[in-house]
Parts: sequence; structure tokens; C-alpha cells
Amino acid sequence: MRNRTFVLGVGEVVWDAPVAAADDSGLRGDGFFETVLCRGPEPVRLSAHLDRFERSAAAFGVDVDRAAWTGLAHEAVGAVPAGDEAVLRLTLARDGVGLVTVRPVPAGVRAGRDGVGVVTLARGTTTVPDAPWLLTAAKTSSYAVNSAAAREAHRRGADDALLVDADGLVLEAPTANLLWRAGGAWCTPPHAGRTVLPGTTLAAVAAGLGVVEADVRPGELAGTDGAWLLSSVRGAAPVLRVDGARVPHDARLTEVLRGIALGTRREFPSGSGG
Ligand code: PLP
Repeated sequence: MRNRTFVLGVGEVVWDAPVAAADDSGLRGDGFFETVLCRGPEPVRLSAHLDRFERSAAAFGVDVDRAAWTGLAHEAVGAVPAGDEAVLRLTLARDGVGLVTVRPVPAGVRAGRDGVGVVTLARGTTTVPDAPWLLTAAKTSSYAVNSAAAREAHRRGADDALLVDADGLVLEAPTANLLWRAGGAWCTPPHAGRTVLPGTTLAAVAAGLGVVEADVRPGELAGTDGAWLLSSVRGAAPVLRVDGARVPHDARLTEVLRGIALGTRREFPSGSGG
């Protein structure tokens, strides 16, 4: 498959067309986006992504035409060959044009599905009060900190980062939520009022598992029954090491979580807990 670019209200343009104005607010991070996995020509959980896209738009004070975005998303992925996986991205700068791109899943992301080693990095924030201008629940395109954290993790020889707040509690990874299993419960860090994006993959898993919100310190993950990074394109990647310490891994649970996360499995087998 080839990379493709579409402009809302226009249609397909060449992949690297100069679609943004030189002064587009998106170039200053003033915009929002969604990243959706596609299995062949089918976007996985597109409606959950569009729900969050609309919430992001509301936080930015802009209107989005859901029907138009839905139509363009389907048009964009219509030619993805069955059996291929693709990354569909919807992007809207606050004062820019709507963009939809589709491209193959990067090889590095596929590799990460088998397991990742993470290092702890400070996010420097702690619980924030009711402050809608901080856009904590929006998927904003201000990803400079997320990208820098991932680069720093790589520089330290790890696959990814676990971001912790000022109290040393885990928030999330730069592009994924954390899920772990301990004492028979499935857990994830609270997101309300924190710099934790409410993930669509986590929501899909939680719908079948009954996930509870709990605080955890990175060093405690080695004592759990397992931990996973959840995101649309990676699915459920088992966390195998945190700051060099081994985290238990249950391949059967990973298989089930991955199936739900990647949209190849609809239900949890009985006995998965919850
Ligand atoms: N947290 C952050 C910061 C992210 O960027 C992402 C996805 O890119 C996620 C969590 C997981 O969200 P989702 O499962 O909707 O892909």
C-alpha cells in the first residue's frame, strides 16, 4: 500500500502536497488529531475515535462535521488491501484545513507488540485542578514533550518511557496508557485532572474486564502479575522491564488483550478476571 493524503472538502491530494498554510496554527501545536488502526479497509473503533475527536474539538472551541470526517476516513482506507494494517490519522489545526492520511504501520511499532522495556521519566506535573485550558482530555497535536520523552527513553537504551508525576506516580507512556494486573484486579492510573489521555484502546479493554483506577509507582510493577502499554496502533504490548527490573509476563493474557486491542477478538474468554 502507498501513503495517501486527503483534505476535508477537497478529496485526495498528492501525499506530500503543501496542504498547510505557512502560518497554520497547527505548526504551533494548536490543533488536535486521532490515530486509528485499520485492518484492511476497516478502521478499528472509528466511532470511539470520532467521539474523542469531537471532545477535542469542543475543548478547542471548533465545530467538526462528523459525517464529513467519517466519509473521508472511509474513503481514505477504502483501498487498503485486506490482510494489511494501516495507520489512519485525522488532523485538524484550530484555524487550518482538515487532513486525513493513511500509511502502513511502522515496523518499529509492530516489533514493540512483542514486549517493551521502559524507563521512568518525570513528567513534572501532579494533579491539576479544574482547568479546561490545560486540555488534559484532548488529543492535542502538542506532542513535542511526548516525542522528546520517547527519544530520551531510546537514548537510555529502552523501548519506551513511563511518565511519572511530581509524586512519582505513573501517569502513562508518551503514546499509550498503562494497564496492569495485581491481586486479581485489572488496574490503570486515574486520568481525571491528570496529564493522562483517556485511551480508546483502554476503554475497549475496560468494557470487557472491569478495570479499576489505582495509583502505582514504577518500582511496584515488578511485583504485579503483568503490565501492558495500550494504544490503537500497538494494541497491547507487554511491559517486560521497568528501569531494568523484570515484570512478570503471562503470554495467554497478552494474546487475549492484544486481540481485543487490535480488534481481532470481540470477547474475553471466561476466567480473564475483572
Ligand atoms: N496516551 C497518549 C498520550 C497517547 O498519545 C495515546 C495514543 O496515541 C494513548 C494514550 C492511547 O490512546 P488510544 O488507545 O486511543 O490510541
